[in-house]
Amino acid sequence: MTNTIAVSGNCLCGAVKVHTIISNQLGACHCGFCKHWGGGPLLCVDSVKTPQFEGEENITVYSSSEWAERAFCKCCGSHLYYRLKSEKVHYSLSVGIFDDLQDIEFVSQIYIDKKPSYYTFEDKTENLTEAQVIDLYFPKN
Ligand SMILES: [Zn+2]
Ligand SMILES: [Zn+2]
Repeated sequence: MTNTIAVSGNCLCGAVKVHTIISNQLGACHCGFCKHWGGGPLLCVDSVKTPQFEGEENITVYSSSEWAERAFCKCCGSHLYYRLKSEKVHYSLSVGIFDDLQDIEFVSQIYIDKKPSYYTFEDKTENLTEAQVIDLYFPKN
């Protein structure tokens, strides 16, 4: 069941803290950007409220494409979020920065056709290919 949860999280070293409200729907991204960024798939939850950051001066924001950026703690390297630059509310936050999450449901995997063959998640999720993601999020007029 879709639910929202008030959460607080932090990077590995504690220099950055995040407070927000997330949806309880966990997604995985298998795209090449995420693979290079994190060494594996990105597991993230989406904020439904603009996140509040403490220690913002310790965040490095990397512009990974024309339309999106990725942020990490410049002290410890923990990945904090991916977001579309046009998006003010919806951040895809690394699920690992939050502890003791309850009732999270792993619901979707995107760029499933880009997933390396050396791992597979066995959870039953909605899976979208790169073409399906582009149709959904970057529709042509
Ligand atoms: Zn840190
Ligand atoms: Zn990705």
